[in-house]
Amino acid sequence: MTVPHEDPDAIRARLAALRDGDLPTHGGRTLAYVYDSGIAEADALGREALASYGATNGLDPTAFPSLLAMERDLVAFAKPLFHAPGGAVGTVTSGGTESVLLAVQTARDAHPEIERPAMVVPSSIHAAFHKAAHYFGVERITVPVDAGTLRADAAAIGDALAAHAGRVVLVAASAPSYAHGVVDPIPEIAELASQHGVRFHVDACIGGWVLPWLERDGLVQHPWDFSVEGVTSISADLHKYAYTPKGVSLLLHGSPDLRRPQFFASADWPGYTMLNATLQSTKSGGPLAAAWAVVSYFGDAGYHALARTAYDGSRALVEGIDRIEHLALASQPDTTLVAIATDDTCDVFTISDAMLARGWFVQPQMAYAGIPATLHLTVSAATAPIVGDFLRALQESVDEAVAAGPIEVDPQLRAAAAAIDPATLDDAAFDGLLSLAGLAGGDAGAASSVTLPEQMAPVNALLDAAPSGLREAMLVAFLDRLTRSQ
Ligand SMILES: *Cc1c(COP(=O)(O)O)cnc(C)c1O
Repeated sequence: MTVPHEDPDAIRARLAALRDGDLPTHGGRTLAYVYDSGIAEADALGREALASYGATNGLDPTAFPSLLAMERDLVAFAKPLFHAPGGAVGTVTSGGTESVLLAVQTARDAHPEIERPAMVVPSSIHAAFHKAAHYFGVERITVPVDAGTLRADAAAIGDALAAHAGRVVLVAASAPSYAHGVVDPIPEIAELASQHGVRFHVDACIGGWVLPWLERDGLVQHPWDFSVEGVTSISADLHKYAYTPKGVSLLLHGSPDLRRPQFFASADWPGYTMLNATLQSTKSGGPLAAAWAVVSYFGDAGYHALARTAYDGSRALVEGIDRIEHLALASQPDTTLVAIATDDTCDVFTISDAMLARGWFVQPQMAYAGIPATLHLTVSAATAPIVGDFLRALQESVDEAVAAGPIEVDPQLRAAAAAIDPATLDDAAFDGLLSLAGLAGGDAGAASSVTLPEQMAPVNALLDAAPSGLREAMLVAFLDRLTRSQ
């Protein structure tokens, strides 16, 4: 059979050209979104496995027993790392968000008798929990973090548990938090959760493949995993510090009983009996096979070396940042994540643009609840050898930002933004706001009208000045237009 088709080499060239516009995934100069071990052989192996398993389907583990075997191997690898009890069970998911969604759904469905289920989380918890609360109708009770350390405040969590006794189905905390890289006081929170008979999820999405080895080197202050009585589930992303291709996270539960409500079955239709452990039904076996291959490649000793390299790199960064005038750490980081704040001679948004112009991506984080705006740095093993270059670029960028002075948002604009109720805005009003913010121009409402300006700093400064509800609404309007086809 011949099917009409285009020249595959031309398509390859187009794919390569499309990728040119993206942030680099390798080389250690992108300090968010991507994780680079710096080991080309491991990357090649992961890509091969991804490609060769791309068409397999994890929908039915009896049809593709290879996927079941690899999932069991990954869970078996993770259990001792997290001091999991012998009976602990796990699921491979598509990412941290799916692991978190399932942890919340499982906690909710373990208590069908609770009419208005709630969960208690520190304000530093990842927004994936906000999404889970929204999707699954679980009320989110957010407790401020300790203002000095930016760690969860265990006593305040205890108060929230007491105030909402009888309807809290889950407490969650981070090891460490994405925004500031601090590990929450897991033992204290676990004790409170136990007292109230509530499940406790430790979100180790970003720390899960680093902390076990730092712990072995005596670099972790407090226990954070299943070794703490009262921790009932843990999430850990393999597509972060396990350096596997995107699309893989682990969700572990302390026992089969704890996990049971995670499963979904439906025989109530004329097709096959649907039986799922995850949100996805048909799912590629590619990411799982890639993770299995890369985890097999590095093994315990490889990850020990990689975790230590990234950690030592982050210490060198911290020391260098301490020496740069006008910068300060937002918190004392516990692992491989660093958050940098500035004094009022400059702003993080201008620094971030100046870094990008020098070939480094650092992620701006907006001010929140009295916590200043920061630059987020995820340090991976490939960044460690070039920390010196990074610090030189950072010094230059700070000098440039100080010379430019901090971006001032017009106080009248700030006041106007504070007075807007996003729920009252229509599409035309959003078009106006987007163009005011520098995120659109020309023909309103059309996909071609949204643009990303060369300089993101003025846009970020304006969004930073907007109340969070307005910022969310404006960015949704932006994404909506960005994803309209021509
Ligand atoms: C990355 C992350 C998540 C969400 O994971 P995705 O893989 O982006 O879906 C959740 N919690 C923490 C702490 C994270 O770092």
